[in-house]
Amino acid sequence: MNILFFGPNGSGKGTQGAILKDKYYTPHIESGAIFRENISGGTALGAKAKEYIDRGDLVPDDITIPMILDRLQRDDCKDGWLLDGFPRNKNQAIKLDESLRNAGISLDIVVEIILDREIAKNRIMGRRLCVNDNNHPNNIYIDVIKPDGDKCRVCGGELTKRDDDQDESAIGKRHDIYYDAEVGTLASAYYFRDLAAKEGKIKYITLDGEPSVKEVTAELVSKL
Ligand code: AMP
Repeated sequence: MNILFFGPNGSGKGTQGAILKDKYYTPHIESGAIFRENISGGTALGAKAKEYIDRGDLVPDDITIPMILDRLQRDDCKDGWLLDGFPRNKNQAIKLDESLRNAGISLDIVVEIILDREIAKNRIMGRRLCVNDNNHPNNIYIDVIKPDGDKCRVCGGELTKRDDDQDESAIGKRHDIYYDAEVGTLASAYYFRDLAAKEGKIKYITLDGEPSVKEVTAELVSKL
């Protein structure tokens, strides 16, 4: 199963993505997490990407597109993948579509979580990251995934904050990019929505991101 996952930062994309990953046994490929691994590993790619990420800008396409297309060619993606955080603009969508067509790979499911911009912003500022596992959800503003004191609610691990999660202007920029339906991330989601309508091969699912994590999951499972 090959899946694309769209949703503004703070919409629960990571949490719901982890559910899909477990259901279909696909690797969960998050472009932002790949950049962060490169930054903490001190790689040249990480050094180039960091200045853009800290400002809330997109890392340029000539770095991001080959990085993701290469990642999809690794062995663990042979039987499917779940891509989260890519494509992030219309150009990336077109390049991904082209590359999949050239490789004879079909896209099966596209999920779009719909969430109001102001709610998404508050959720981002409450988000905490578990040092042991990126997929352990913790958020100080959401009751069901509230950390256990200052530790991860799943494994008790240390929690950290992302620098770009605490910077309102960086959040604003990330949302400007996401909600841009002309050339930004929504434009790339709509690119695939149009393909789904035209070619009938892709299942395009929309989810209301406002209810609780459990309710969004239930909607997701019912629509799969
Ligand atoms: P995320 O973890 O998805 O919020 O991504 C964190 C940051 O990584 C973003 O704000 C961008 O700076 C960068 N990034 C992630 N995915 C992409 C992408 N597809 N294209 C360009 N930059 C990206």
